[in-house]
Amino acid sequence: MLPRIHFITSTILAVLLWPFFGFWGLAIYIGGFFVDFDHYLVYVFRKKDWNLFNSIRYFNQGYKEGLYIFHTIETIIPLVLLAPIHLFFLAVLIGVSLHLIMDFMGDIKDHSKIKPLSIIYYLVRQKL
Ligand SMILES: [Zn+2]
Repeated sequence: MLPRIHFITSTILAVLLWPFFGFWGLAIYIGGFFVDFDHYLVYVFRKKDWNLFNSIRYFNQGYKEGLYIFHTIETIIPLVLLAPIHLFFLAVLIGVSLHLIMDFMGDIKDHSKIKPLSIIYYLVRQKL
C-alpha cells in the first residue's frame, strides 16, 4: 500500500476520532503512517544504503520480501496491553490496526505474498 494512502486514511481516522481522542488522536499517524518506517530499516539492512529516497524508489519497484518488524504480532501485543492505560497507546493501536488491514487487503488485491505476521515465525522459518 502506498504511503500517501496510509497518510490520507490516517488523517481521516484522526479527524473522525478527534472528539474522543483530542490531541492524542495525532498518535494515529504513528501507527497508521510511520509504522512503515520498518520498510526503510529493511532497505538499509539489505542494501547498506541510508538514502531514504533510494529506499522509496526500491519499494516502488515492488520489492516486498523481508521482515517488517512493525507489521508483526510482536508489535501489536504490547500495544493491546498498553491501550487500556493511556489514550496514546490506544490511538497508536487503532492506527496500526487500520494500517495492517489495508496492507493485507492490498496484498490480496495485488496477488502478492503476505508479509510475515510474526518475528518468531519468520526466524523459525528461516532456519528450516
Ligand atoms: Zn505497511
